[in-house]
Amino acid sequence: MSKIRILPDVVANRIAAGEVVERPASIVKECLENALDAQAHQIDLAVERGGKESIRIRDDGEGMTQDDAILAFERHATSKIRTAEELMAIQTFGFRGEALAAIGSVARVTLTTKLHGATSGTEVCLEGGKLRHVREVAAPGGTEILVRDLFFNLPARRKFLKTEATEAFHITNLVTHYALAHPQCGFTLQHNGRQVLAVTATTDLRARAYQLFGANMLDSLAPVEFAQGGIAVGGFVSRPHVQRTSRDGQYLFVNRRFVRDKLIGRALSDAYRNILPPGVFPAAMLFVEVPPDMVDVNVHPQKTEVRFRTPQHVLESIVTAVQQALGRSPQFAPFPTTA
Ligand code: ADP
Ligand code: MG
Repeated sequence: MSKIRILPDVVANRIAAGEVVERPASIVKECLENALDAQAHQIDLAVERGGKESIRIRDDGEGMTQDDAILAFERHATSKIRTAEELMAIQTFGFRGEALAAIGSVARVTLTTKLHGATSGTEVCLEGGKLRHVREVAAPGGTEILVRDLFFNLPARRKFLKTEATEAFHITNLVTHYALAHPQCGFTLQHNGRQVLAVTATTDLRARAYQLFGANMLDSLAPVEFAQGGIAVGGFVSRPHVQRTSRDGQYLFVNRRFVRDKLIGRALSDAYRNILPPGVFPAAMLFVEVPPDMVDVNVHPQKTEVRFRTPQHVLESIVTAVQQALGRSPQFAPFPTTA
């Protein structure tokens, strides 16, 4: 008798879910990306107890049919790619078709969705990977997903969640990133009924940075505008008088995707090497744009890591872009000068 068995879907899904869903902020990330992929113009989030109790995300994007709303929770179910070739040039945030399946298998989820113009919407309810019910409901156009009791069926994982304040910080940080990268979309975020963030749809990054961080912050920034050899770097970096003791003020993106990329972090440090003392960090909102086939985003299920085909080229471009920005900046004096 053979000893090897194919795992039942429920078990396989729960294992896979561990890689996608690490903490409440992971759920927020996946749902924000789905909303943006669905062309939402307004995204409203309400989180209770750092997301450990519940996370509600509502968008006015294209919505889903009833069949799609059910399929969406299957693993590898996606509307975003069809062939392996398309993996080489991904234009959407999603493509793995794993997020909803993962979320649905480690929490209690209610998804309500309606195509714009449809006469009725759909509610799909899952608990721990099991479909509980599907019903027709009245709903506005777009999608709302309510995720409760994260890891209720994985008590060991639930214990590893941090305090309410820490989990809420991660969520706010994440929403701030997405809000920066998508000025054309309005965002609101409530935590325990209190408004934490609210920005209306606007025109560009400068306007959005003003909404999020205020005029003082904006005054301390120098614009970055660089394009060469297929790489473009845009955004803002702080002038040398802004000195931070952590990288918290650094918002880094590759092709509008929020990344935690060591290479970009290093490029920033390199660019400020003779300007800022060690242990002090600049603030930055940096958008690196490369042709989609120059970067692999399929490195990790959470997709916050990327791999560049020509990392050295990217690094040098960023250093040059930032140095040019600082050089151009009128209030900038690299070294104290004695007249
Ligand atoms: P992926 O985003 O990788 O395709 P997901 O599991 O995140 O996989 O979502 C599965 C599918 O469900 C998506 O491809 C999309 O068609 C649909 N979907 C998910 N969220 C939304 C949403 N907010 N609005 C419209 N469609 C959605
Ligand atoms: Mg997705």
